[in-house]
Amino acid sequence: MQSSETVRRIEELRRIIKENNEAYYVYDSPKITDFEYDELFRELKRLEKENPELITPESPTQNLGDKTLEGFKEITHKYRLYSLDNSNNFDDLRKWYERVKKEYPKENDLELVVELKIDGLSCALSYEKGKLKLGATRGNGIIGENITENIKTIKSIPQELSKPIDIEVRGEVYMPVSSFERLNEDNIENGIKEFANPRNAAAGSLRQLNPEVTGKRDLHFFAYTAITPNSKEFDTHKQALDLLSELGFTVNENHKKAQGIEEVIEFCKKWETERFNLDYATDGMVIKINDIAKQNELGYTSRAPKWATAFKFPPEEVWTKLKDIELSVGKTGAVTPVAILEPVQLAGTIVKRASLHNFDEINRLGINVGNEVLIKKAAEIIPKVIRKRDYEDLGEYKAPDECPICHTKLVKPEGEVILYCPNSLNCPAQIKGKIEYWASKEAMDIDGIGGSIVDKLWTNNLVEDFADLYKLTIDDFMKLDLIKEKSADNLYNAIQNSKNPSMTKFLTALSIKLIGKETADLIANEFPTLNDIKNAKVEDLIKIDGIGEKAALSITEFFDDENNKRILKKLEEYGVTPRGSVVERISNIFEGKTFVITGTLSKPRNIFEERIKQLGGKTSSSVSKKTSYVLAGENPGSKFDKATQLGVIILSEEDFIRLSEGNINEQKF
Ligand code: AMP
Ligand code: ZN
Repeated sequence: MQSSETVRRIEELRRIIKENNEAYYVYDSPKITDFEYDELFRELKRLEKENPELITPESPTQNLGDKTLEGFKEITHKYRLYSLDNSNNFDDLRKWYERVKKEYPKENDLELVVELKIDGLSCALSYEKGKLKLGATRGNGIIGENITENIKTIKSIPQELSKPIDIEVRGEVYMPVSSFERLNEDNIENGIKEFANPRNAAAGSLRQLNPEVTGKRDLHFFAYTAITPNSKEFDTHKQALDLLSELGFTVNENHKKAQGIEEVIEFCKKWETERFNLDYATDGMVIKINDIAKQNELGYTSRAPKWATAFKFPPEEVWTKLKDIELSVGKTGAVTPVAILEPVQLAGTIVKRASLHNFDEINRLGINVGNEVLIKKAAEIIPKVIRKRDYEDLGEYKAPDECPICHTKLVKPEGEVILYCPNSLNCPAQIKGKIEYWASKEAMDIDGIGGSIVDKLWTNNLVEDFADLYKLTIDDFMKLDLIKEKSADNLYNAIQNSKNPSMTKFLTALSIKLIGKETADLIANEFPTLNDIKNAKVEDLIKIDGIGEKAALSITEFFDDENNKRILKKLEEYGVTPRGSVVERISNIFEGKTFVITGTLSKPRNIFEERIKQLGGKTSSSVSKKTSYVLAGENPGSKFDKATQLGVIILSEEDFIRLSEGNINEQKF
């Protein structure tokens, strides 16, 4: 039974969906999130299913509408490009599988292929005798836009295949997340409107009437469908993917052949979280029947194949209310705003806080406490605020003028966007921040000393600065109300065992402004002892490659400061002495050579570092063109890839030993 209420709602849903189709597909500028769109779409489908007499051919559930931009030539696709049905829960996936399985009652589990659903722009590419003839957007699936010239600017799309066959290839054009962020930074700087997400950036870049603009954007292509009308090249989808690779396309490696739906679900669960480690956006997984003969038997509905479906990930973006803006004061006194939110589900977790970067950013977004804001799960753990509702204006948020902790008037150094509390000597937030940083993994790496223990030490008046960690006794720790596994003994031992750090760790741990681990490493490489560093002048420091004037000044200021002198003296009294990192030379065979170490070696890294220095070489923690060798152990990290990219010589431990004994000619590598 249909009520006038239902009729009204259906019309309303169709109108909203059509408007958003246009905003999304034609202008690459969505007004609602993909999740909201899918919800509306599902609601419309459900209402139409309950009231089939109300279905019209114009409904967006039956037809994708007009999706081409004026200015491009329209082309009629040789083979229709369908959409995909989707669900956002595993039960619906199981139901889809049951429906398909019913067609094959005699078979055991069916063979499926599950792959990532890349959130880009789908394109169809036609090749004749192995030569690229036409590139087109999906459009409404029947008619698309001819974007051949733009397609030709994408390096991962071959213009000539490795075999002279006729083939139509479909896949997704996308922009890596890192390039999207860079593009948006440039846009902000140039006063151009930002793209809402990598998909829109990819679509906006590809659908440029001037292909030169497209050529300047970092676009890539993953191929996922092959149609070969004139020859039978494959029997399964998996074989089609292998053929695409062989022809010269990039096929996304994160796919899997699965037996039945449960294996698919396991794979989906894995990628629900792992997708955040990828440098491209994904909005779900696509599940396809592997056997092409079965695909043909199952066929299509008016808008989607019956032999495939998509699982959509929980939303990465969601609207919620900005309840408050909390101010946090870091170890260098930087005051940063943090959004306190009405808790919401986002990408599978409940989110209560989001990052706002700085006060200029708040004003740029035009947000204030009380606004509804869109938050997004980014690669980082803490999500960020993207924008507010256009229509909601609650006035400008006023940045604080005093430190929320010690109430000192804040300062904004020239040319910086960040506000600082200048009271580094007495501001509890800064002192606690420095103690916590001293103990952190990147610095002295003292196990068990984190924010909550530092808080307790502070409120019990047991420490005034990080040097005081070394005067703490087991009894002191017993006074704190500790969680079981962090026993007083362990904390005490961890601190005492950290008294002889490398010079790099020690310098890093001091929280000197502008001096992170890498800069600390450069300095440690150059000066034999802490005294030499204390006595170094700006002109000595800037001689070091990689140290600029600002950093040099920051170092000399730090060691001239009376309070810092007092802390350093205390450290010395407690027996905290960095190991001099300049070791006695025994030969010059590595003179002028810089080494970077990655992966696990048979002995601790510092043994190799020392050996390099004894032989006149230097070590560094990052790979650049200036790196002479990368010494790679087991499971090497990204430094290995970077070295390969730059053509830096890579040594195994064995190579290294032979090289250091002088019985290998380096030309051999
Ligand atoms: P939808 O846009 O939600 O209807 O989903 C269908 C779209 O998913 C297709 O048109 C493709 O653009 C896109 N897609 C992304 N990755 C894949 C993939 N691995 N297989 C098939 N389609 C994909
Ligand atoms: Zn303060």
